[in-house]
Amino acid sequence: MSAISLADVYRARQRIEGRVCRTPLVESPALSHMAGVPVHLKLETVQPTGSFKLRGATSALTELAERGVTRVVTASTGNHGRAVAHAARALGIEAAVCMSSLVPKNKVDAVAALGARVVIAGKSQDDAQVEAMRLVREEGFAFVPPFDDPHVIAGQATIGLEILEALPSTATVIVPLSGGGLFSGVAFAAKQINPDVAMIGVTMARGAAMHASLVAEKPVLVDEVETLADSLGGGIGLDNQLTFAMTRALIDRVVLLDEASIARGIVHAYREERLVVEGAAAVGMSAVLDRVLDAPRGPIVIVVSGCNIDIELHRRLIGAL
Ligand SMILES: *Cc1c(COP(=O)(O)O)cnc(C)c1O
Repeated sequence: MSAISLADVYRARQRIEGRVCRTPLVESPALSHMAGVPVHLKLETVQPTGSFKLRGATSALTELAERGVTRVVTASTGNHGRAVAHAARALGIEAAVCMSSLVPKNKVDAVAALGARVVIAGKSQDDAQVEAMRLVREEGFAFVPPFDDPHVIAGQATIGLEILEALPSTATVIVPLSGGGLFSGVAFAAKQINPDVAMIGVTMARGAAMHASLVAEKPVLVDEVETLADSLGGGIGLDNQLTFAMTRALIDRVVLLDEASIARGIVHAYREERLVVEGAAAVGMSAVLDRVLDAPRGPIVIVVSGCNIDIELHRRLIGAL
């Protein structure tokens, strides 16, 4: 039983072809040395919007456009919001991004610069979500979920295809875990191609809704806590339809990291790999650096999910260690 099929993933790949990068898979000598097996990095940092979210958004928007939809809306101010704005402009459809009046001006400007209509509503993320749903009900917009959607999951799953094509001997894939769209997609595609691939999800120790839900065996709410891995924050939805069940079925191990470990990953990426990565994208490298995986089978592939870190924060972290 699954929400998507391998055929859906290949269809998503056709839909996003030419609109999204086929990203490089490069070996990390430093991490390979440390792990004792080859470690490769899947560099979603090079996507035009700086994260893999462009895959899922482009997959979903292309499918909507095929069905004649001309207006889409989301409430995300982060990587998903950017991705929806970028994909909508590329497809020539209208995008609205709802956000609260508390969202910092630089984030508002970034979304507006991508050509999306910014709709300011209320004082919280929940208020922004309510406004997005009003646009759906009253103005005919289609809502584009950040993870819990079959076309989004199939888009993220194209990463799994690319990994197994570039490195068929891949034995372990390490993926950052939040709402589980990325994890579900990559794990589904990888295990369809080779069921023996071990799938490890990595997230922060505090405020990780998917981990708490896996422990509770049902979707649960967690308090949001500030973290360097800000793109891994947020809930999975109490009425989660797809990603909770898929993640639960496909995950071999969950790893939780503290903030110092996430910071070490960011610094390692910069010093040793010459990469600027955001906290959410550093966690796979942190897991190898801190040797929290006991004897993982190689070759290991780490999904490096995005580069959208506040540049001042990045500078402080680099200088601090
Ligand atoms: C969204 C995001 C994730 C987590 O993806 P989910 O599908 O929500 O699990 C990881 N890294 C980055 C950079 C992201 O933007």
